[in-house]
Amino acid sequence: MSGAASRWPVAVDLVVVGGGIAGSSLASLAARNGLSVLLVDRGDIGGGVSANSLKVIHGGLRYLQHLDIRRMRESIAARSLLLRIAPDLVVPRAFAMPLTRFGTRSRPALTLALALNEWISADRNRDVRADRQLPAARLIDRVDMAHLFPEVILPSGQRGGAVWYDAVAEDTERLTLAFALDARRHGAFLATHTNVTRLLTNATGCRGIALVDPCTGEQGEVTARHVAWAAGAPSAGAEQWPSVAAAAPARWVRAVNLVIDRPWPGPVGLAVPVRRRDGGWRNLFFVPWRSGVMVGTWYDPATSGLARPAVAESEIEAWLEDVQGAFGGGTLTRSDVVTVHAGLLPASRSRPGEPSREVVLQSAGEHAWPSGFTLVQTVKYTTAPMVARRALVRIAAALDAPEPVAWWNEPLRDATRAAEPWTPASIRHAIENEEARNLEDIVFRRIGSGAFRSPARSEVEAIAAIAAPLFGWDAAATGRAVEACLRGSAETGR
Ligand SMILES: Cc1cc2nc3c(=O)[nH]c(=O)nc-3n(C[C@H](O)[C@H](O)[C@H](O)COP(=O)(O)OP(=O)(O)OC[C@H]3O[C@@H](n4cnc5c(N)ncnc54)[C@H](O)[C@@H]3O)c2cc1C
Repeated sequence: MSGAASRWPVAVDLVVVGGGIAGSSLASLAARNGLSVLLVDRGDIGGGVSANSLKVIHGGLRYLQHLDIRRMRESIAARSLLLRIAPDLVVPRAFAMPLTRFGTRSRPALTLALALNEWISADRNRDVRADRQLPAARLIDRVDMAHLFPEVILPSGQRGGAVWYDAVAEDTERLTLAFALDARRHGAFLATHTNVTRLLTNATGCRGIALVDPCTGEQGEVTARHVAWAAGAPSAGAEQWPSVAAAAPARWVRAVNLVIDRPWPGPVGLAVPVRRRDGGWRNLFFVPWRSGVMVGTWYDPATSGLARPAVAESEIEAWLEDVQGAFGGGTLTRSDVVTVHAGLLPASRSRPGEPSREVVLQSAGEHAWPSGFTLVQTVKYTTAPMVARRALVRIAAALDAPEPVAWWNEPLRDATRAAEPWTPASIRHAIENEEARNLEDIVFRRIGSGAFRSPARSEVEAIAAIAAPLFGWDAAATGRAVEACLRGSAETGR
């Protein structure tokens, strides 16, 4: 049990369960506002759905279709925030969308939409570094469009396009980590590879959590005045906490991207409707990334309750068929897919099979939660820091603490790119300063070598040889770590 010798704090104001972007940004903001915080994750910081995103930091242009201006303003503010506080990791990216003759993608409709977008996002570059500012969107003619995308991608019948600017988080893993490390800089405790097994309650409500280190078997209890559950989709551990598993949105969708190692014609991304196998249309984004392009997102009603859902080889083959056209028809093969991103997202209530646009923030009173408990469920990586602020306002009210005033006003110190190529010093830094606890943390989420494609065995062994003395591993433990890392790589389709 916990006590003076425990590696976890005895008591804090706030426990945040889940170190994805939702929990990490909440922990950071709470710590900046003077709360004592423990951030717990059953795996690594940012190792869940947050590592599986298409990495687009959206300004919510698509919300214009529903005239959802409030949501659009929140997305624009979130995009500006991330460009401002993580300029090394979040960079502007132009996207193009082909025009159609009629409808919402026609020239007249998009002329109006882009003018509205310009007006609604007029303050988007306030306090943003000059080289991270977003130019105005514009319409281009068919000649300029053909310049951006050769005929193999857009057939000659194209009518020009709309070009707008969003941002891309080149390394979402390091961005999520930067928030968690910011929390630590402001006094928070981080406990990764630690499973929260139980909510501790008494007659007045929630009074903390029980946790366990699955590697050592060490168990403990931490007293907390408030617990925020930002643990994403139900996961294998959730059955130990039935009340939370039951209260999380009942329906989930599986969201999948393919990372394809084929050169893309330039730095501009593309949003195109693609005909689905069932005859319908699906809007897909092509996002240039490293030496290739990420394509997505495919959504299906989730059939498994696990946060890292399975993806069958036959499904990958079928999705490749959806996008063959953009790569010269019939030339794309399974070996071009170097990584498969997959995660569960809350499903829309009105359109099951599509992700929800509604953030879930619930505390006692709105749900059968004990007092001192808040459920935080985001739907976009982009807006998670804004959701963190909304969550913190209600947590502060529940704690009788002052309304939060501290914000992220300066760049996050740890929002830095991984050194390329990695060096022994970057591995040492990951272990000593960046909470890396095993080889997978280092390879996939600190030095970036496994994020794009499967690392070679020889590279994993070289990294392990440097990490071994720092972790205190003998030869057998080093060998096991290498195999576990390569297995993890195979599971994500890398
Ligand atoms: C394929 C795909 C593409 C996407 N593309 C985009 C995009 O382009 N732009 C965008 O803005 N958003 C995108 N999203 C959405 C975005 O990625 C998610 O909304 C966001 O990352 C969710 O973050 P989270 O912190 O809520 O969840 P997670 O990142 O899953 O974090 C939850 C954490 O809780 C931990 N946990 C679970 N149970 C326990 C327990 N019992 N004890 C301790 N810890 C626990 C998990 O280990 C995990 O790290 C995409 C999602 C997917 C799947």
